[in-house]
Amino acid sequence: MNDSVSRRTFFRSSALRATGALTATGLGFDLRPAVAAARELKIARTTQTHSVCPYCAVGCSVVIHTLGDKARNVRPTVVHVEGDPDSPVNRGTLCSKGISLKEFIVNGERLTRPLYRAPGAAEWKPIAWDEAVDKIARRIKETRDRTFVEKDEQGRVVNRLTSVAMIGGCTDTNEINYLLGKLRYGLGIIAYENQARL
Ligand code: SF4
Repeated sequence: MNDSVSRRTFFRSSALRATGALTATGLGFDLRPAVAAARELKIARTTQTHSVCPYCAVGCSVVIHTLGDKARNVRPTVVHVEGDPDSPVNRGTLCSKGISLKEFIVNGERLTRPLYRAPGAAEWKPIAWDEAVDKIARRIKETRDRTFVEKDEQGRVVNRLTSVAMIGGCTDTNEINYLLGKLRYGLGIIAYENQARL
């Protein structure tokens, strides 16, 4: 390290950069315009979709930037995810998990189809959504027919189904939760858990 960039100057400029405050006082140049321009380039021509981070109960709002001209033969690609500055929940900020959402969306390991493993089989195999929904409905019906309890041992009407449970997630909207409630109460399901409690 030469005299013009002393150890003290180097650490000072690093600290300033870490707080986003690098100016001409550090290593002699201001990176902010370049950072802003890079961000603008990244989101130029993107479609913006507002959504909610799925990771925890805080429910931070995000803006998902997707590139693609909506032509039928063009597969849209998510190029950037950032906090929604208009959200009263997070006001544009995201934690380290939320800021990595793009890697969660654009990921070769991501499950995009239902997988089914037949009883006794070792392998999971992809099945169509219709087939998966049919299987789930049939399993619930069979289980309910077999285990539904109308009255308890003292003859009191309870109409409960304790052999089926339901889980939800923190991104479930009020409307989804309303419908889940209708379904759950209609079937008599008592056990309900939601990741938003964590
Ligand atoms: S960005 Fe972080 S704090 Fe916000 S919902 Fe996602 S995981 Fe939770």
